[in-house]
Amino acid sequence: MLKKNILNFTLAAWEKAVEEIKLPRFRATQVWDWIYNKRVFTFADMSNISLATKEELEKHFCIDLPLIDDKNVASSADGSQKFLLTTTDGAVIESMVMYANDRVTICLSSMVGCPLRCAFCATGTEIGFVRMLDACEIIGQLFAVEKYLKNKVTSIVFMGMGEPLLNLANTKIVLENLLSPNACAYSRNAITLSTAGIAPVIAPLINKYRIRLAVSLHFPTDAQRSQYMPVNCTHGLKELFTALKQVKLEGNDYITIEYIMLKDINDSLDHARALVKICSHIKVKFNLIPYNKIASFEGEPSSQKTIDAFTAFLLAKGFRVSMRHSRGTDISGGCGQFALKKDTHTIIDD
Ligand code: SAH
Repeated sequence: MLKKNILNFTLAAWEKAVEEIKLPRFRATQVWDWIYNKRVFTFADMSNISLATKEELEKHFCIDLPLIDDKNVASSADGSQKFLLTTTDGAVIESMVMYANDRVTICLSSMVGCPLRCAFCATGTEIGFVRMLDACEIIGQLFAVEKYLKNKVTSIVFMGMGEPLLNLANTKIVLENLLSPNACAYSRNAITLSTAGIAPVIAPLINKYRIRLAVSLHFPTDAQRSQYMPVNCTHGLKELFTALKQVKLEGNDYITIEYIMLKDINDSLDHARALVKICSHIKVKFNLIPYNKIASFEGEPSSQKTIDAFTAFLLAKGFRVSMRHSRGTDISGGCGQFALKKDTHTIIDD
């Protein structure tokens, strides 16, 4: 019998699963406490549970995490670390950990590969779509990395491989468990989900969980966005911005608009003007992203001078603008560089 991974359950579903094997409900709470409060992932170490119960649990359930091998942890000169993790079926996924002040941020993958095929992103163009990650493999990246680092992760971004909003059911389970006071108890502000723009599901999801939203916009016109981001052919800018208007923002919340700066492609002041126009009715802040070069795309990063002029334009219009400090580029851990070379995918040279 295939064992069910407990990390695929919300607490309510877990309680039901425990009742189904005729164990009392308090056992569910005990196991949950071991996992989420004590970060214990083996039944054998759950000292307040009898041997017979442990054996019964073991028959039906597991708490497997993706595996980290020392050889597959690469450290960047900027301090960030890239982890290659292996799932129980041998798929390889990537997570990045970044450090800033007191913050430890993990960048989680939601899929093996990605179906979206944005022209400038190595995940979609060089790997393509392999499969969805289960909830246990998404939250498992966090637990495996925390265990390895012996350190708590303080914030989480869904910005690794894959499109979280196309793996919606599993993303919801993970969010539920990250946010629930009975589980990881992260504050809603500690979690950011980035999407390429799966318009119909954005507002329902963000309004339910009230986490931070980032949108990979990158191009301010349909013609150009469709050329580089095929998702725009399905969900164009009008649909996307109608969806963004439906996102309920509280107090100091903004929607982050991510914008890769590509030399002579999307970095002119005309582009900045078009960007301001489409964003003017929404509370947004801009995050300009230096383009990390990938082999399969011919584009070049914009010059600092161009980026400065673009930034100055947006600031003058009253917007908040930040420049992403791209991390881990020397270990191919920068945005869009999450591609595993198929022939060498288990080893990173560091
Ligand atoms: N599919 C989601 C989650 C991935 S997040 C999304 O698109 O938002 C990864 C971020 O890195 C996205 O903003 C993506 O557009 C950006 N990115 C992709 N390729 C890049 C590259 N070569 N250089 C810089 N950023 C890149």
